[in-house]
Amino acid sequence: MPKKPADLIIKNASELATPNGGGQKPLVGKQMRALRIITDAALAVKNGKIVGVGKTAPITSAFKAAETIDAKGKTVIPGFVDPHTHLVFAGSREKEFEIRLEGASYMEIHRKGGGILETVRKTRQASEDELIRNCKRTLDIMLEHGTTTVEAKSGYGLTTKDEAKCLHAIQQVNKTHAIEVVPTFLGAHAVPPEYETRPEDYVDLIVEEMIPSISSAKLAEFCDVFCEKGAFNVQQARRILHTGTKHGLKPKLHADELTPLGGAELAAETRAVSAEHLLCASETGLKGMSKRHVIAVLLPVASFTLMAQKYAKARRMIELDVPIALGTDFNPSCWAENQQLVIAMACRQLKLTPAEALTATTLNAAHAVNRAAEIGSLEEGKKADILILDVHNHSFLGYRFGTNLVSKVVKDGKLVLDLE
Ligand SMILES: [Zn+2]
Repeated sequence: MPKKPADLIIKNASELATPNGGGQKPLVGKQMRALRIITDAALAVKNGKIVGVGKTAPITSAFKAAETIDAKGKTVIPGFVDPHTHLVFAGSREKEFEIRLEGASYMEIHRKGGGILETVRKTRQASEDELIRNCKRTLDIMLEHGTTTVEAKSGYGLTTKDEAKCLHAIQQVNKTHAIEVVPTFLGAHAVPPEYETRPEDYVDLIVEEMIPSISSAKLAEFCDVFCEKGAFNVQQARRILHTGTKHGLKPKLHADELTPLGGAELAAETRAVSAEHLLCASETGLKGMSKRHVIAVLLPVASFTLMAQKYAKARRMIELDVPIALGTDFNPSCWAENQQLVIAMACRQLKLTPAEALTATTLNAAHAVNRAAEIGSLEEGKKADILILDVHNHSFLGYRFGTNLVSKVVKDGKLVLDLE
């Protein structure tokens, strides 16, 4: 039989590991660790898509390709999806880090006009070009560490014009960078100083002006709210999410991070795609999320950087069949680009196995950004977003940390990074 033409074959991999099933729903419970594992594996790619996955012998006898990568001794996994980042901002907050080391809490700094509001000042002053350059720098580092799709939230503009500027920067960088960026509108990140004494007026602005204009300019796919004491309460969050939904923006929620406010319950009630952080989420809230398939996006590096020794109850979530995804929470107070670090923290602090953490950073994270039909697992028909890691098997994920395990990155079928 003549061989079928392909553009790229990756062969001889010591292991190929991928979450199983590009099903309709994110993986829960035991499904999260039930990876499909192939030893002496190969994969064929054509027109940016995966056309064959299996053992090396049958794949190389079925396909011939212009380009072949020998992955001997290496592990092939799907590209990481980072489902929670605050990608667009100007400036940095290293001084605040020192103040926090001396004992000041995140919300204390916020109340004194630091934290998010410090970054808001810098971001309002920045030009769109400067923001694009910042995004590009960050995305380059993320790609180097194996991230091929990223969710990016606005939320450091907090005026209609500056929020649009940030989302426009995301749109521009998405056109040129290898990483696909999925935009989220987070105008409800903080109450800006000019609305400090009248926060309801700011919620009106979000609902009446920001959401309609951002939605009609097609600048975002999701609408998110920082539902927290000192930020936005449950009633305000509900109103913002409902308005977003009416305008075609799917709901996401920063929920129950620092205080138990009922964010997980609200996420279930509004059928949010995901609820994020969840350190203080209630049992009732988690059960509601499980029933409605709301994805828990957990951010262990954010917990680490808060230094409060409190982490989300990931094992309980798995028992309750709450689907888990993992993200970096990249932002100026949690400056971490690397999903491999997130996996290392998730294994140690959330007690996820490397297999569960792999599912949480690939297929379930793809569900959290509404891309699971195209990416997140290595299956025929899906986009060829592929990592080749310089380790023998996927169990090295999390186990070996502090260095970059990525050797090659393939995005949309093209070799976009080669560190060998
Ligand atoms: Zn966040």
